[in-house]
Amino acid sequence: MIYLDHAATTPVPREVADAMYEALTGNFCNPSSQYAAGSDAKKQAEACRATVAKALGCDAKQVFFTSCGTEGDNWAIRAAIWQNRRLGRHIVTTTVEHKAILNCCKQLEEEGYEVTYVAPDTNGDLTAEMILDAVREDTALVSVMMVNNELGNIYPIAEIAKGLQKKNPKTLLHTDAVQGFLKVPFSAKTLGADFITISGHKVGAPKGVGAQYIGPRVRNPRPLLPGGGQENGLRSGTEATAQIVGFAKAVELRCDHLEDKLRHMADLKAYAIEQLTAIPDLIVAGKGTAPHVLSVSLVGWPSANIVTDLSSQGICISAGSACHQGKTSHVVSALKLPKKAAGGVIRISFGPETTKEEIDQLAAAIRKHHDTRLPML
Ligand code: PLP
Repeated sequence: MIYLDHAATTPVPREVADAMYEALTGNFCNPSSQYAAGSDAKKQAEACRATVAKALGCDAKQVFFTSCGTEGDNWAIRAAIWQNRRLGRHIVTTTVEHKAILNCCKQLEEEGYEVTYVAPDTNGDLTAEMILDAVREDTALVSVMMVNNELGNIYPIAEIAKGLQKKNPKTLLHTDAVQGFLKVPFSAKTLGADFITISGHKVGAPKGVGAQYIGPRVRNPRPLLPGGGQENGLRSGTEATAQIVGFAKAVELRCDHLEDKLRHMADLKAYAIEQLTAIPDLIVAGKGTAPHVLSVSLVGWPSANIVTDLSSQGICISAGSACHQGKTSHVVSALKLPKKAAGGVIRISFGPETTKEEIDQLAAAIRKHHDTRLPML
């Protein structure tokens, strides 16, 4: 299999699976248990927290394990609007967020909140000014993703944070950094966001684990899951110790020579652009600069057919994002491309393991699709 869909999920390295196996079969105890094996499990989870915190650039006590990026996004939004419930019921976000944000905002609109959705320009870019212009006195929360999952555009979170300090210092800032963590270097300490959401399975960890950074401006954050008081009372539920161990191991592996890995992905992306744009009717869609995501369009050829054709040859790519099954995605729509171009958008995403040979095979398969299938759009 040629796997070029690392923005959807990533392969789990052997070392991660081994560490999880050990956690499942070795000390499987509940970290809340009073006996020694329970405290050992707790110590191990705390060591994992320290590993993730180091990669995020913050203190371990600011990191809370969750089950996924979706949970973190929902938690951050709910916690922020709870803290600012007396400030107002206005939220600023963008039209190109992940559905985890957009559908949570939709729910909040049903609950009486007003949400301003800022649209990017036709390159998929957003400036801090575009976001700050939408902020009002009653804005409880600004939520802007760090890297767009379909286009790879990087958004100016640090600049938004600085601008918010001037425009409305009480407004809290959340960033969905699910596609930014270990792809676009940042440090939680200096970024200025109050909440940073990350997900393990985008960086070599298993599915089912994520983490939330909560900064010092958040007072008594409201738990999304009240219960037995795990995660310092903020995220109840018995710790998923094996997932947490896998997450920390994956982070440790990724952080080893991270710069080399990011350079490798950026080089591959440049190589892929070179190879793919040599195919007639193929254009780069969106101008994302994140090293791991490339969005292109085979203008006139439906993306779903390309994905299926490539899949039959063992090549995995996605039509826009993996999350919207066949419909033109809300992100691609934001680019306002002509219909034939919008219908042909595919996303190719790379990992540290991706090779040039795989890109060559991808390019050959797309060229063949172009040459042998009639355009239908
Ligand atoms: N946010 C972004 C930008 C994503 O790309 C994804 C997953 O694709 C999510 C949130 C959801 O993360 P999870 O799959 O861990 O719930």
